[in-house]
Amino acid sequence: MSKSVVSIVRYEKPLESVRKAVDLCGGLDHLPSNARVFIKPNVVFWTRKVVFPKWGVITTSRMIEDIVVLLKEQGIDDITIGEGIVGRVKDEETPAHAFENLGYNLLNKRYGVKTVNVFDREFREVDLGNGETLNFNADILDSDFVVDIPVMKTHAQTVVSLGIKNLKGMIDINSRKKCHNADPEKDLNYWVAKLADPMPPMLTILDGIYTTERGPAFDGRIRRSNLLVASADILSADMVGAKILGYAPSEIPHLVHAANNRNRLCDLSDVKAVGEKIETVASRHKYTFPYNQDDSLPLPMAKMGIKGLSYRKYDLTLCTYCSGINGVVLAAIAMAWKGESWDDVEVLTGKSMQPNPGRNKTILFGKCMYQIHKDNPDIKEMISIKGCPPQPKSIIKAFRQAGIEINPAIIENAEMAPGFFMKRYEGKPEFEEKHFTVE
Ligand code: SF4
Repeated sequence: MSKSVVSIVRYEKPLESVRKAVDLCGGLDHLPSNARVFIKPNVVFWTRKVVFPKWGVITTSRMIEDIVVLLKEQGIDDITIGEGIVGRVKDEETPAHAFENLGYNLLNKRYGVKTVNVFDREFREVDLGNGETLNFNADILDSDFVVDIPVMKTHAQTVVSLGIKNLKGMIDINSRKKCHNADPEKDLNYWVAKLADPMPPMLTILDGIYTTERGPAFDGRIRRSNLLVASADILSADMVGAKILGYAPSEIPHLVHAANNRNRLCDLSDVKAVGEKIETVASRHKYTFPYNQDDSLPLPMAKMGIKGLSYRKYDLTLCTYCSGINGVVLAAIAMAWKGESWDDVEVLTGKSMQPNPGRNKTILFGKCMYQIHKDNPDIKEMISIKGCPPQPKSIIKAFRQAGIEINPAIIENAEMAPGFFMKRYEGKPEFEEKHFTVE
């Protein structure tokens, strides 16, 4: 049985360490000459409003430049960096701001690298089998070779977010929502597992200079880990990455699906790891945010003694767009707590939660919950937030109606919230801002 090679390298020096990781796994051995190469970083989030922690959240620009140099050495001239940054629809300024600040425009000047915001580009419907389709960015599909460079992180919904999951940024908004559908047989993990299927040949490099637990965003715990994992086989890279983050590949549902789809075992029996030993570099990264025993409140809020509110734990059906604001709403509720029990309020999110009969007030958070439960006889007093994603004004109004006076400024200035997390990293020299610029 031929084994897929995965390299594990400690990040010690710019270029040299990336070169070692790529060479050890033969990652560019099958790069066609004169190939059009598409680089997919992980720019999971961006805001123009405030400086926020990028470590472990966004692919380091250091890695991107090093890969560009390696590609140029192979005679590659046609290189595109592409990403679909989650944010407001038709917002062209935020992606442009991200690309400028991450140094991608300098890469353009220096090496002729192009950048694309995939939401400005064509999406093409791709049949992933059984007539099941998602709409993918056409640039990546039409390229000859892809370099997929996710951050090595755990993820509150998919347990890990590595090479395969990183490709979710290449599908359009409707497809992203479809991935979070409520069918338990075809859930988020089912769809994510298929994301690499229509891709051209790839090199996957997991950027573990910084790693994150409870990702994918800035509210997770970030570590300086100085690790690179690379392979020409994306599933093998992800299985090794999962192991390094402390999980057997068989514990990661989307990797189990991906292995089944490829008639492979979801273990490392057909993988040859070279370089550092997995056991030496592995460390457990938690993935889920802790809740109280019945999952009705985040643990920190339960510990505050909050009463009269059930805000159930997010599930796989909650899209990125709702989950982005969900964390801010929870923070605003925590700040609104004055020690007096609220009026037995239940908040339902995502696409599959059911109301508990007998609650005094039920907030249906988002268009999906409203459509499913608008005629539900188990709801005594319905308070709906109908938007997709829910808009600040309707969120503030709904909670006021439920007797929870959240500070409107927190919701209206949700884009400022990531800045608060910067304090955690003050005075810690191992968190280097320079990894996110091109010098
Ligand atoms: S309302 Fe929320 S969960 Fe429903 S589709 Fe919109 S973003 Fe997704």
